[in-house]
Amino acid sequence: MGKIILTGDRPTGRLHLGHYVGSLKRRVELQNSGEYDKIYIMIADAQALTDNWDNPEKIRQSIIEVALDYLSVGIDPDKCTILIQSQIPELTELAFYYADLVTLSRLERNPTVKSEVKMRGFNTSIPVGFLTYPISQTADITAFKANVVPAGEDQEPMIEQAREIVRKFNSTYSPVLVEPEISIPENVTCRRLPGTDGKEKMSKSLGNAIYLSDTPEEVKKKVMSMYTDPDHIQVSDPGKVEGNAVFTYLDAFVKADSFEKYLPEYENLDALKDHYKRGGLGDVKVKKFLIKILEEELAPIRERRHEFEKDIPHVYEILKKGSEEAEKVAAATLHEVKDAMRINYFDDMELIHSQAEKFSR
Ligand code: ATP
Ligand code: MG
Repeated sequence: MGKIILTGDRPTGRLHLGHYVGSLKRRVELQNSGEYDKIYIMIADAQALTDNWDNPEKIRQSIIEVALDYLSVGIDPDKCTILIQSQIPELTELAFYYADLVTLSRLERNPTVKSEVKMRGFNTSIPVGFLTYPISQTADITAFKANVVPAGEDQEPMIEQAREIVRKFNSTYSPVLVEPEISIPENVTCRRLPGTDGKEKMSKSLGNAIYLSDTPEEVKKKVMSMYTDPDHIQVSDPGKVEGNAVFTYLDAFVKADSFEKYLPEYENLDALKDHYKRGGLGDVKVKKFLIKILEEELAPIRERRHEFEKDIPHVYEILKKGSEEAEKVAAATLHEVKDAMRINYFDDMELIHSQAEKFSR
């Protein structure tokens, strides 16, 4: 069996640093490793509508933003298939059949869904589409027979649920589906990058994000107002690095040569942290260092984005081509699924003949 990747993002806004360290950066590495037979990258618009049903315009506008972000980080449409979820009706059909294999209580127990429901203030009026999106996500993954899903930590319960559905399907009908594995970043900080406000997750929906397409001025402004240690008031005060978003970002972004280039008076991040903890190191100095490190990463991304922005119809062409290619694969899987469930009636000659015989008796 080949190595196949499926991964994706909800088009609810532009992509941010959390996406970059949690998933995008790895996708580009995996794409360039040449170890994968197929890589599918999905813009999950149908999923985004499950909690944005009243604002389809936001989704419509965000699709191109996400596509531009993909291209600007180095995702190569010649090596990856980029698709738009809603353009592949087979995914919806698969989800409909998988829904029979999941109980309501199992969905309600999914910890990611639980925290997202809370965050969105749905309380008891949870849209059915939202509660069941793990089922639809299982359809997306299995339609392409993906065995590897590179994602952030919040996706672990989703993949676990997908694996359960696959096992149930395979044992109930016949073994046609592939159990996926999640591939999360090695760097623990990158698995769930906090927001600039120090909240546990940087998220498009929380307004605490630094976007890949932010201008240098915006990045500077956001970093300068980032959450640090509220008790570190004077430069001379000892400071805390745990829960201090600036240090968390340094954990995620510092490179081997960052100190030599921008802050040579410290040997490494541990030395900088020690000084901060002892007291005598101000937030501004650390923030300025972080800005330089982020800019080093973001400047080439921004530049590539500007290039792709010059030919937007071409970007839509890429999405159309990718969606068409993906639909063929999803249709083949759907056919196998229906065969396994024995609901492909019209090309089932054995069924037709045996029924004919039964009624002729
Ligand atoms: P929304 O608020 O609309 O849910 P989001 O910012 O959570 O948006 P998604 O599109 O849900 O982004 O997530 C896409 C991918 O990016 C997933 O693999 C997710 O795990 C990863 N990801 C999102 N935010 C972070 C983060 N802060 N740190 C690490 N990975 C992240
Ligand atoms: Mg999310």
